Amino acid sequence: MVQPLAKFGDLETRLFINNEFVNSISGRTFPTINPATEETICEVQEADAADVDLSVKAAIDAFKLGSPWRSMAASERGKLLWKLADLIERDAKYLEELEALDNGKPLGRDGQYGTAVDVGLTIAIYRYASGWCDKIAGDTIPVDGNTLCYTRKEPIGVCGAIIPWNFPLLMQSWKLAPALAAGCTMVLKSSEKTPLTALHTSKLIAEAGFPPGVVNTLSGFGPTAGEALVKHPGVHKLAFTGSSLTGTKIVQMAKLKRVTLELGGKSPVIVCDDANLDVAVGACHVGLFLNQGQCCCAGSRIYVQDTIYDKFVEKAVEKAKQMKIGAYNQPEVEHGPQVDELQFDRVMGYIQKGKDEGATVSLGGARYGTKGYFIQPTIFTDVNDEMTVAKEEIFGPVMSIMKFSTDEEVVERANGSCFGLGAGIMSENIGRAIGLAHQIRAGSVWINTYDDFSVQAPFGGYKDSGHGREKGKEMLDNYLQTKCVFVPLQGPKC
Ligand code: NAD
Repeated sequence: MVQPLAKFGDLETRLFINNEFVNSISGRTFPTINPATEETICEVQEADAADVDLSVKAAIDAFKLGSPWRSMAASERGKLLWKLADLIERDAKYLEELEALDNGKPLGRDGQYGTAVDVGLTIAIYRYASGWCDKIAGDTIPVDGNTLCYTRKEPIGVCGAIIPWNFPLLMQSWKLAPALAAGCTMVLKSSEKTPLTALHTSKLIAEAGFPPGVVNTLSGFGPTAGEALVKHPGVHKLAFTGSSLTGTKIVQMAKLKRVTLELGGKSPVIVCDDANLDVAVGACHVGLFLNQGQCCCAGSRIYVQDTIYDKFVEKAVEKAKQMKIGAYNQPEVEHGPQVDELQFDRVMGYIQKGKDEGATVSLGGARYGTKGYFIQPTIFTDVNDEMTVAKEEIFGPVMSIMKFSTDEEVVERANGSCFGLGAGIMSENIGRAIGLAHQIRAGSVWINTYDDFSVQAPFGGYKDSGHGREKGKEMLDNYLQTKCVFVPLQGPKC
């Protein structure tokens, strides 16, 4: 059974502006739902343009010259980020359960993927960013003439962040950690589907000692709060993760603001005839079914070399059949519900399309149970590149397996998508695997593994999957700008 909601009775549901929790100016609220039971967890304050304006003003004040944040030593910023990581670690169990309740994903405390992994990675990125604070430096440039020329890496200023619902804590941390390390201030709008953990983290931000206005967190909808944030003249930079459709709108609305985008994907995995079959099946299973298939980099186009196709399908089906489906707090659950009814209907629509267009359902293909937004892990075989399930991002637990015969052919087919976020190569011949990895147009390539998300390594897309990199040292570039200073010197050049 799902945890009694009374346990979360003290949860924060208001907007976080200037280090205070406040009701929305309009007084409007909206419900957030437990996707395992379809019940309302609580009502949350709903931000709109007026609340965005108040938050941006707070972020502008916090970024003013002479403010506590701007005057703070870089190493002190680092200490605050480390403190925040400590507080998240202190409240880890609470955050794991709150995230699971709001999103539906499993807890993953038994070696499987779940919110325990998300919280661990969230702590890790704040710690990683903490170490960068006092290492952000420009260069001295040997220009012609007797002139000292140097660059400074300066924070861009007030940033707006808009995040999705599939990894709420992680997406918040991938925006906040580098922005704060760089010395920016931020207004972040969480997803209307999963607003709760962003608010608890905001409580910890105040407790850690970040000055008022440095971080402001709003719950609300895209067309109201989201658009107001994108268009606000006080915001200098936007960081967005979400669908390509919304990303395109944001670029159009943002006009001359700097924008970084993490968008959708349709990532290929190539399983060569010389792959270790168990490793390949395991990697493809994680690559697709992790987080109920709600991953931007889900390996949703699996190309298997024809000579091992049947064996691979048999093993992949066998593995997916073993998955334990259920609500987050049941032991050893690996597969939870989709996040809400809209996503459930969307994914079921794609499954119907796969059937209608002639793909074979080798596993699943239907709803699981009668309550909650559960979908059976589904595997389509006899798929071809022209079918909708092979072309469009499904964002659900639907694997499509296709055949290939030569490396040349599979590279062309794998690259034949408008997306370029992730890719997988399964082969025991490391030269062949790396050769293939270099030919695939994607921001991350996993060889004989999938979904490795080390905080030290950059993540981001090629082509329509977006631009800018999150995590790794590249994450800082999104929040810094370069100033060049020239100083003519006296005396002989030396
Ligand atoms: P979405 O684009 O509908 O929503 C994402 C966020 O944008 C939400 O906070 C939403 O409120 C906001 N939004 C919606 N319309 C807006 C508008 N007109 N103006 C401003 N903000 C607006 O996407 P989603 O359904 O929440 O997330 C799923 C999508 O996100 C998938 O396509 C997935 O691939 C992508 N995604 C990508 C990554 C990545 O790192 N590349 C990570 C997670 C999700």
